[in-house]
Amino acid sequence: MNEVEVFANPRSAYLHIPFCHRRCFYCDFAVVPLGDKANGEIGPGSASIKSYLKLLHREISIAPKAKPLSTIYIGGGTPSLLSVSQLGALLNHLEKHFGFQDGCELSIEIDPASFNYEDLLGYLDLGINRISLGVQSFEDHFLELMGRRHRRSHLIDACNWLTDAYRKKKLSSWSLDLIKNLPGQDLVHWESQLMQAVETSVPHLSIYDLSIEPGTVFALRKNRGEFALVTDSLSEELSIKTSKILSNAGFARYEISNYALPGHASRHNRVYWDSAGWWGFGQGATSCPWGHRLTRPRTREGYTNWLESQEKNGLDPSLQSFNAKPIDFDDQLMVGLRKREGVDLLLLAIRWGWDRKRGEVYLNSLLKKWQYWLDKGYLQRRGWRVFLSNPEGMEISNQVLVEMFLWWDSLPRDAVLPPNSEEL
Ligand code: SF4
Repeated sequence: MNEVEVFANPRSAYLHIPFCHRRCFYCDFAVVPLGDKANGEIGPGSASIKSYLKLLHREISIAPKAKPLSTIYIGGGTPSLLSVSQLGALLNHLEKHFGFQDGCELSIEIDPASFNYEDLLGYLDLGINRISLGVQSFEDHFLELMGRRHRRSHLIDACNWLTDAYRKKKLSSWSLDLIKNLPGQDLVHWESQLMQAVETSVPHLSIYDLSIEPGTVFALRKNRGEFALVTDSLSEELSIKTSKILSNAGFARYEISNYALPGHASRHNRVYWDSAGWWGFGQGATSCPWGHRLTRPRTREGYTNWLESQEKNGLDPSLQSFNAKPIDFDDQLMVGLRKREGVDLLLLAIRWGWDRKRGEVYLNSLLKKWQYWLDKGYLQRRGWRVFLSNPEGMEISNQVLVEMFLWWDSLPRDAVLPPNSEEL
């Protein structure tokens, strides 16, 4: 796909389901905890879920008619809190509104202990062909420490069901998430986590570093000195071990946090890393049609008010009523560098609105800032394409990004303002 044209046609959609059973101790997402017994259809939490789904359907109804979708992602929160028929109604609505392309990648995030085998068969009947399972750790001690609701026995069942569906070719792909750098984690423990993940035969893995976010239980415990985080040098050793074990098992690291066997990379996530267009629906969800990013209010009240004003004013494909912001060049570069193949700087510059000559001048000054990392081989270059080496470059990506942000801040004002900005 031509990167210059990529903004024109959003072909992806993200649906946000903001409910969880409980808030995990490290999580600061826009989620609504509904209790351990919550259920989409009956009993605790069902009224809240049903009223939210009405809003979500209303938002889909007023989206501009556009091209058929090629990737859809139902994320959260815990989308598996919804019943199969509630998920089916959302997908039917999306399909009626936009249409689905043949071979559309249809993904959902699910949590162990929030679905059973029958639900899984229901998801597959709806056409869901990619599932992301929030495992986080294979060990009860760490699951408890993180405030997760599921336990090892639940996730072993879930992995077995998904492996079975995948082997029987009812499911195209599935993935599991693990969190590394947990307090008390060491090399031996982490190696055993990775080996257990590989032994499930999962074809895709997402590995996230624990991040301590303000306002979370983990932040409180850290401030009280109740646990110590892993040191930078241990974190680096854990990362190098990860790359080694997964590469020996046939996985390619195609993005800083994602590893896949051949043919199993997520198409939907690539849309974000390419800063390509996508529709977003739901409380707190971000959409990015035509290169303009819009994040909806994170509270139910704020989202309801926003939706009502959009219904009144009409969602305008020209974005005049969207109050959306163009994705800045430095943001596009930051997410693009997460990919193994990196980014073509000159294509990005032209897409931003600089002409070739001006782009080359600015980009050469960026390359000068990056000279140290280029000389070390942590950042590599082919023509105007730059990419981080694996694993060393990916481990120091933050330092490369700091240099890039300093460069961006040093550019003349007319260079960093969005194209066609009224401020010019
Ligand atoms: S299940 Fe996921 S989204 Fe929900 S609280 Fe836990 S980490 Fe956050």
